[in-house]
Order: sequence, then C-alpha cells, then structure tokens
Amino acid sequence: MLLDSQWKKVLNRVENEVTAVNFDLWISNLQPVQYVNDELVLIAPSVTAKNQVNQPAIFEKLTKAVRTEFTPYTFVRITDKQEYEESLRKQDEEIEKTKDNSNLKSKFNKKYTFENFVVGKSNQVVCAAMQSVAEKPSEKFNPLFIYGGVGLGKTHLLHAVGNYLNEHQPNLNVLYVTCEKFTNDYVESLKNVKSNSTNDFREKYRNVDVLMVDDIQFISNKTGIQEEFFNTYNELYQNNKQIIIASDRPPKEMSALEERLRSRFSSGLIQDIQEPDYETKVAIIKKKCAQEGFLIDNDVVDFIAQKTSTNIREMEGLLSKVVFYASLLGKNSSSIEDAKEALKDYGEVKHNELDADKIISTICEFFKVSREDLVGNKRNKEIVEPRQMCIYLINDLLNIPLTAIGSIFGRDHTTVMHARDKISNQIKTNPHTKVLVNDIKSRLMKS
Ligand code: ADP
Ligand code: MG
Repeated sequence: MLLDSQWKKVLNRVENEVTAVNFDLWISNLQPVQYVNDELVLIAPSVTAKNQVNQPAIFEKLTKAVRTEFTPYTFVRITDKQEYEESLRKQDEEIEKTKDNSNLKSKFNKKYTFENFVVGKSNQVVCAAMQSVAEKPSEKFNPLFIYGGVGLGKTHLLHAVGNYLNEHQPNLNVLYVTCEKFTNDYVESLKNVKSNSTNDFREKYRNVDVLMVDDIQFISNKTGIQEEFFNTYNELYQNNKQIIIASDRPPKEMSALEERLRSRFSSGLIQDIQEPDYETKVAIIKKKCAQEGFLIDNDVVDFIAQKTSTNIREMEGLLSKVVFYASLLGKNSSSIEDAKEALKDYGEVKHNELDADKIISTICEFFKVSREDLVGNKRNKEIVEPRQMCIYLINDLLNIPLTAIGSIFGRDHTTVMHARDKISNQIKTNPHTKVLVNDIKSRLMKS
C-alpha cells in the first residue's frame, strides 16, 4: 500500500518531466513490486517497454523522481515479469547451494592445473615442491609452506595439487579451505554447542588426508582459532597426513602467529614464490590466449606485459579487457591500436598503491559523507548506500578476505557478503549503478 502511494507521487512528478507519449506508453504501465535494501523494482509489461524505460533519457528522469520521493540513494531496477521471477528463483537456488556444499569434499577450479601453470625462474622451485607433494603426499615436505605476494599463483598451485590428487588418487580426502573458511567453520561450531557441531567440525578437519589452508596470514588469535588450528595440525601430522599452507609472507613475519605454530611451520619446507620476470609474464599471456583461442601479436603481448607491474591477476585483467574489446568489434584477435584503445583508461594505473583507505576517502568525497559515519553504526540510507558501495569496491579491487573487510566497518563477513551481492546484482540489472560504479572506479584509478 505504502509502495503504491509512493509510486503515485513518483508518477505525478515524472509526468511533467517526460513527453506525454513516453509517459502514457511506458512509464504509467510500470508496476512497483518490491522495495528492499534501497532498491525499487519495477516490472514493465513487456521487454520492449523495459528497454524503452531503460533508455538513459527516460531512466534518468525516472530515477530522479524516485529519489525525491523515496530516498536520495534509491536504486531503480526495471525488469519484466519473466526476468523478475527468474531472479527470485536464482536467489533461492543460491541459498540452497550454499547449504549443500558446506560439507562436501573440495571442488577445484579446473583451470588451475599444473599444465596451465607457466614455470619460470621466479616459481620453479615452489612448483616442483608442490608437484612432488601432489605425487607423493606425506612423503617429502610436510608441512609445505609457500608464500609470496598477491597474484603470484599460490592459490592456483593449491588447486593444481587438488586437481592432480582428485585425478590420480580419487580415494584420498583432500580438503582446501581459506583461513577465513576454517575460522568461520570453527566459530559456527561453537555457536551450536548443543547440536554436536563441534564434533562435526573436528570430524571434517581431522578426517582428511591432505589439508590445504590458503591465506593463513589472516589467522587471528581470537576465540581460540590458533589453538584449534594447532590441535588440528598436530592430529593430522601425527597421523602422517599432508598439510600445505599458503601465505603472503613467511611465518617469521606473521606477528600474530603463536610461537608454537611458527615452529611447527618451520619444521617442514618453507618456500617462496617470487615476482615473475618479463619472459614469464610474456609466456603467461601467450598461454592464456592459446587457451581462449585468442590470436595475439607479439607487440600486443609486450604492450600488456609492460603495462602491468608483477601481479599476474592484474595482468590477466588487462588481457580480458583487450579480449572483451575485440569481441565487441566482432574479432578474435587484437591489433595494437585496439589494445591501446581498450586499455586507454589504464594508463597510469598502479594498483599497488590502491588500498582500503584510499577507497574509503574517495567514497566519502563522492557521496559527501564523513569517514566516521561511513565506518560507523548509522543505519540511515544516506550512509548505508555509500557504505555498501565502499564494501563492494574494496572487495572488488583489493585482495582482502571478507572478515578483514568486515572488521574495517566493525561488522561481520555476512554484512560484507550482503553488500557485495547487492551491488553486484544491481550492476547487472541497473544501468545507473553501473555508471556510478565505473565513475567511482575511474576516480580511484586517476587519483
Ligand atoms: P595468489 O593466490 O598468489 O594471490 P593466484 O593463484 O590467485 O594468486 O593467481 C592469480 C592469477 O594469476 C590466477 O588466475 C592464476 O591462474 C594466474 N597465474 C599466476 N601465476 C601463474 C603462472 N605461473 N602461470 C599461469 N597463470 C598464473
Ligand atoms: Mg590466493
């Protein structure tokens, strides 16, 4: 009822703003169905009507009127009946999926294999160590601790071990978790003491043949996490199970790490993965292109390799932009001119300099809110929306786990997931959000 009356006010407003034809044909036929989390969903009677209303000239005026009657930060999503029902169904499915998967054996990203990993000077020792552990778990290096900077291939190698073992020794129970997942599972098990879930937790983690923990640098020394990890570790180790750990820094530089864990880690092999040299970067680009069936000239390869620092993930990002741009032109290859055009906004990007602090200050400036409010507890829409946008961007642009992002805002990881999913859905469905996000991103890149 409230929604209808608000919507009527919006209609009155837009009526004066657009032509009578546009109003009668398209806008007056929209039906408001949902207003949740600052998002107003309007159903258009047909796909044509939806497309018409999504035209910037109409859409912008409509959004403006909605924001006057609802809140200044309301997002408008125009959809049609079929699409709307589909999106509801998908949401349900997602929820079901996360319920099902939690206790299954790990699934590994099929792209992250040893075959797809380009070996160069910077990573050959690590790669050899990982391969020998994959071939003969628990025989050589236990634990195997690998470390190195962001985007250098640690997660790729862990998955490669997983894929290899699933293929060659499918009976082994191989578990891959991020440190964050381990922590969440443990905290969750404590919440439901009565329902025996602590036992479930122990059963899950202590019945594995190979345990891989990614991003261990985020292990906290709160709520007994290190204690629990220590116990899990000992039990596995005593039973001659393989343990592989990845981190962005060596154990000796992890200040929050308890001494007893540090010494456990040091008893095996600690091996670093270094930044790739130029040849390795070139070889990686060529390999990715070959996999995708994308034809690439050497000058384009050089152009991309020179444009990125040493983060391979970032380099892949630039390559995808080039591939995407070519696909818009209907090609499966790129000339150097097209590549330059595709990456023209990335001229001076130094992603290394981007950090959460900078994203927060850019958001504050953009939405005219104070930092104190942004990371604080206020729940009014004027603050909530910029906050969600900020969380989304930090998650999108930086390699920080959800719990760590949550702690910047004094919230838990579920809030972060909610904000992330909400904004990324809006980007897909709402042209306005997409423009807004790109706008903020380009500010971040320029400054
Ligand atoms: P990390 O976990 O160290 O931050 P990732 O394993 O996520 O890094 O790697 C980032 C991206 O770079 C992944 O898509 C991965 O496939 C790719 N990558 C990294 N190193 C290599 C390599 N040597 N060969 C091929 N791809 C690589
Ligand atoms: Mg990783």
